[in-house]
Amino acid sequence: MAFDSLTHKLNEVVRDIQGKGHLSEKNMEEMLRKVRLALLEADVNYKVVKTFLDDVKSEALGQKVLESVEPGQMLVKIVHDRLVELLGGDQEEFALKPDQTRIMIVGLQGTGKTTSLAKLANYLKTKLNKSVLLVAADTQRPAAIEQLQTLGSTIGVDVFAKDPSIGAVSVVNEALTYIQTHPYDCVLVDTAGRLHVDETLMEEVKTIETVLKPDHVLLTVDAMTGQDIVTVANAFNEKLHISGLVATKFDGDARGGGILSVKTLTGVPIQFVGVGEKIDDFEAFYPQRMADRILGFGDIVSLVEKAQETMDQKKAEESAMRMLDGTFTMDDMLFQMESVTKMGPLTSLIRMIPGMNQLSEMVDDAKASDAMKKTKAIIQSMTPSERANPSKLRSTHKRRIAAGSGTSVNDVSKAINSYEKMKKMMNMVGRMSKGDIRKLMGE
Ligand code: GDP
Repeated sequence: MAFDSLTHKLNEVVRDIQGKGHLSEKNMEEMLRKVRLALLEADVNYKVVKTFLDDVKSEALGQKVLESVEPGQMLVKIVHDRLVELLGGDQEEFALKPDQTRIMIVGLQGTGKTTSLAKLANYLKTKLNKSVLLVAADTQRPAAIEQLQTLGSTIGVDVFAKDPSIGAVSVVNEALTYIQTHPYDCVLVDTAGRLHVDETLMEEVKTIETVLKPDHVLLTVDAMTGQDIVTVANAFNEKLHISGLVATKFDGDARGGGILSVKTLTGVPIQFVGVGEKIDDFEAFYPQRMADRILGFGDIVSLVEKAQETMDQKKAEESAMRMLDGTFTMDDMLFQMESVTKMGPLTSLIRMIPGMNQLSEMVDDAKASDAMKKTKAIIQSMTPSERANPSKLRSTHKRRIAAGSGTSVNDVSKAINSYEKMKKMMNMVGRMSKGDIRKLMGE
């Protein structure tokens, strides 16, 4: 994930400084030197780094950090607040108009423009309950129209497409006529990509902007391309009114410096991030939450939101109740595993838990996913009564389950063991929660 190495380094600085009861001017200088190095290594623009540190320093002096009761904490807070500012501060959320919102997307070829448009359509449809029309106005690359049609039918969103020979501007004009009689909450227009900033194509998108009068013009930038993001954003922003960026391929191993510099250097905020190739690997961007993640504070708000979106709430509550009163079955275990799998890779979930960032480095997503798949196959090969009472299984049953799930008897025993352990622990938590927790709370 982008920022991994930066997070790792800043985490160390934060831990180090938070542990210090006293700070000397020398300690503070040393910490700021490490922050500076971490930012430069992450490929943040050197001017941005300089201003960032100057601001932190002058704020720290102004607040008399060294004389305060908790100098380490105060310094970390100043760095955090400045980082939020760097990422966009209190930027406005992506707003929709009450009647109809028109959005166009532009970007260099291969940055993930068409994919991001479909991801956004899916986001608007599933999270915000909006009716969406996709307009295929990338007439330069014939495959783009087909790609959008395929994506549209996967997510269940209408696609407006015409013969590309009429040209992109005519497609948009025809789409505008079409929506007069077919109203949609959101109209999303794809445009032709380019390999580099090219005058003819730039004129085309400029004309589309004039004709469409979009409420948002989004530009896709590839997080892997470092400082080029700034150059590209500036070039597009000179011609069009870019309202926000979609930073794609955030899941890649990028240093992230371009993303950290772009708001300061171009004034264009990051609005969304693409975090994978799947249609729902797409998130709204919140500077505060991102700063929390970068400094290793976790992002509990996003974690809870993710859980709410993906879990069946009623089923989750029933399962939790059975966990606490000791009637937890292997069916519940299956449900828990499926819920976690739906939320995304384990490492990205762990990273959202405050203080757990380091643990995520020890978890191997591929191994964890293999182990879960195996356990799922085992549970699915068991009968309902076996799932309710797995401890009663004889070896003949285990052999049948192993054969059915393509695993070994040893794997079946291991899965049952994990279940027994989980049940025991949950039982303890259950008893705690009823009696001891009340006692602990002093009731
Ligand atoms: P376009 O030429 O800008 O329209 O690019 P496409 O939408 O066709 O995407 C180019 C490639 O990037 C495709 O293989 C996409 O699956 C991939 N891609 C797009 N967004 C992301 C992302 O957020 N993460 C990853 N890993 N791949 C992405």
